[in-house]
Amino acid sequence: MTELPFIHYSCQQIDDEDIAAVTAVLRSDFLTQGPAIEAFEQALGTYAKAPHAVAVSSATAGLHLSCIALGITCGDLVWTTPMSFLATSNSALYVGAKIDFVDIDPATGNMSPHALEEKLKAAKEKPKLVTIVHYTGRACEMEAFYALKDKYGFALIEDAAHALGANYANGKPVGSDPRTEATVFSFHPVKPITTGEGGAVLTHSKPLADKIRHLRSHGITRDAAQFVHQNKPAWYYEQQSLGYNYRMTDFQAALGTSQLRKLDRFMAARRALAQSYPALLSGLPLQLPPPDSHSGWHLYVVHITSKSTTRDAVFAALRAQKIGVNVHYMPIHLHPYYQNLGFTPGQFPASEAFFSGLLSIPLHPGMSSADQQRVAAALRTSLA
Ligand SMILES: *Cc1c(COP(=O)(O)O)cnc(C)c1O
Repeated sequence: MTELPFIHYSCQQIDDEDIAAVTAVLRSDFLTQGPAIEAFEQALGTYAKAPHAVAVSSATAGLHLSCIALGITCGDLVWTTPMSFLATSNSALYVGAKIDFVDIDPATGNMSPHALEEKLKAAKEKPKLVTIVHYTGRACEMEAFYALKDKYGFALIEDAAHALGANYANGKPVGSDPRTEATVFSFHPVKPITTGEGGAVLTHSKPLADKIRHLRSHGITRDAAQFVHQNKPAWYYEQQSLGYNYRMTDFQAALGTSQLRKLDRFMAARRALAQSYPALLSGLPLQLPPPDSHSGWHLYVVHITSKSTTRDAVFAALRAQKIGVNVHYMPIHLHPYYQNLGFTPGQFPASEAFFSGLLSIPLHPGMSSADQQRVAAALRTSLA
């Protein structure tokens, strides 16, 4: 009997073209902050229809720099969703902000604009920043968020780590709306495209893009027109802010540009798999995600509704059959670090209910229909 391969919940797709793009940079003069970075930034901006893209070392770095560039600082209030990866809220804690959460819409897992409105109405202190997450690649209800943004004056970040290649309800690409201050993408290997580690901030504001560019490389400027001290020799540079080393390397950027050319193909494959799951899983005690032709389907999350087994038992059964299920996510406020900040179980009931029974099943462009059938068959057995 041949060994069955492990089916990952998500997985990078690297081909010879990608490898050639990386090795070409390795043979060139620049390994970091050379021409491949600019080319990748251009390509990203064109793809997502945003005039400015800044490549950084990770989405976490991009979220952190966006907070700083938006002037979020010690004591400021930031609101986000509990149904996300920790980096979404950690990045606000990095700048000394106070974090709080807004509960989700159980139909989508995205922050509920209704819950946001209720919380805004009741809050004595209003947030300076709200960070929304396009959970699983399904775009948030943007018009409702923009209406609240107009009324209450907060800045808006879209954590689009799941959503490069996804579209809003109006069919436009995530990242393209100038009413959002900053949209942040991730290029971790499980995400829609990869650069190994990597991320990017897209914005429609040139001052914000300039600031993030400045901060990603130590807060240093080499542009004489920007110098505080004038008439300096050619070697001179100056540090004007406390920045970081959050640069992406050129060989990562070359991989990103090569990957981006394949993104539409990756999206088509993800959407086709997402369309096939309901028929394959029909009749099982599972709640499936609602259909969405605009979603990037970074994740396919189901809820186990069976009374005779548990999510954790199904998880173990599928892992034993080399099926890479996962859980995205335990709500952020349930982690010990956040409980030490004062959050308690029961505070965000919709997120906590959503988490119970939650399971991500494999969906990525490298999956065959035979792989998908293997996933469905394993689920059928474990839920029998
Ligand atoms: C992956 C992820 C991040 C962090 O991305 P990195 O590039 O690994 O830093 C942030 N937010 C969400 C929602 C993510 O899924």
